[in-house]
Amino acid sequence: MSKSRYQAPKGTRDIMVPESNRISSVLKVFEDTLNSGGYGQIISPLFEEIGVFQRIGGSSEVVTKEMFDFYDKDPKSPQHLALRPELTASICRAFAQHRPVTPWKVWYQGPQFRYEKPQAGRYRQFLQVGAELLGTPDPHADIEIIAIASNFFRKIGLSGIKLLLNSLGDANSRKSYNKALVEYFASNQEDLSEQSQETMLKNPLRVLDSKRQEDQGVIEGAPLITDFLNSDSVNHFHIVQDGLSLLGIDYELTPRLVRGLDYYTKTTFEFVAPNLDSAQNAVGGGGRYDGLVEALGGPPTEGIGFAIGIERTLMACEAENILDSSVQSLEVFIVDTTGGKEALVLSEELRQIGIRVDRSFDQRSMKAQMKAADRSGAELAIIIGTDELNENQVTLRDLRGEGTQTVLDRQSLSKKLPKILEETRK
Ligand code: AMP
Repeated sequence: MSKSRYQAPKGTRDIMVPESNRISSVLKVFEDTLNSGGYGQIISPLFEEIGVFQRIGGSSEVVTKEMFDFYDKDPKSPQHLALRPELTASICRAFAQHRPVTPWKVWYQGPQFRYEKPQAGRYRQFLQVGAELLGTPDPHADIEIIAIASNFFRKIGLSGIKLLLNSLGDANSRKSYNKALVEYFASNQEDLSEQSQETMLKNPLRVLDSKRQEDQGVIEGAPLITDFLNSDSVNHFHIVQDGLSLLGIDYELTPRLVRGLDYYTKTTFEFVAPNLDSAQNAVGGGGRYDGLVEALGGPPTEGIGFAIGIERTLMACEAENILDSSVQSLEVFIVDTTGGKEALVLSEELRQIGIRVDRSFDQRSMKAQMKAADRSGAELAIIIGTDELNENQVTLRDLRGEGTQTVLDRQSLSKKLPKILEETRK
């Protein structure tokens, strides 16, 4: 087959059946899980003023290197906009704008955009689901958020997902930790990669997130945040850990876990699928971001949330061999050799009562239509030829079993069909 002139842009995909079906069913589970926790859906714009994202992390690569940004067409003062690389910032912007009653509990789903180097499980457009809980410093909010995400993984059947947990402490703890990190990295500067030497000056914490091989030796010897948490942060972290244990949620303390974005405080966590390659084994993550709403011009407001990557979640399902390949198949295929008008009316009639129906187009021969019916995966063919039309009847043919045929009165078809379909499944 010759390659067509236009291809989906690099790092993007056309998602088709059966993957699109799997995505829909995973999204449905997510929606049900979040609704049952008292979270309401928020649908926010796909793009924002670029400042919204620059606020969330001037030192993270997501913001400095990976944003798709553009100017709008206003001739006088074009606005600098960016496709969203994540949704927490948009949601904090929405909070600052609408000032809803707290606690404000929202969930979302939708595509995010990052100009990354595409590879397996890493795209330039990818789907995330997530939740945010704003307006409370209560550590029980942290526990609820983690529990809800764990519930989602459990409900879709994943059993191997591991929860990595850390605390980055409050602003004061972070300050003293940052100071220690700066001193440590400065004295080991020559062993760091060029990029990390640059990051170190903007946000030393982010160096810990480097995946570059040459940085690993220095990172291993770096001071641990755990030794710099003040009593408030330690207290908060203990309540979170106790709560998770109380709910039977296993976790692994990972004092070097810093997340990709700059805004996190106190609790941070990541969900990993151990049977995926380490470059893309993070299926989701999140944490507390107590200063973010204020940074976006809102009142001081605490917040905690998570985001889960849907493509990675499906990869984890595949690795655990639990990919749902059951598609809602067709129930009926209409074979009409009388010109197609009967098929047109009958397919509409049956779809209106919720039966999954398809038909052929182009007035094809009986043989070609029967072949299409077989290929369609439908359970029953409804055949309308000249004889049937004249007698006001239809012929039903069982496509899955012996090929049994029965003749039925056209008038009573809609009424009898659900029962007949039930019978053929026995
Ligand atoms: P982050 O906002 O970077 O913490 O990402 C949250 C989750 O989104 C990750 O754990 C991944 O599952 C997913 N994710 C992030 N970036 C990408 C990408 N470029 N392609 C596919 N999934 C991604």
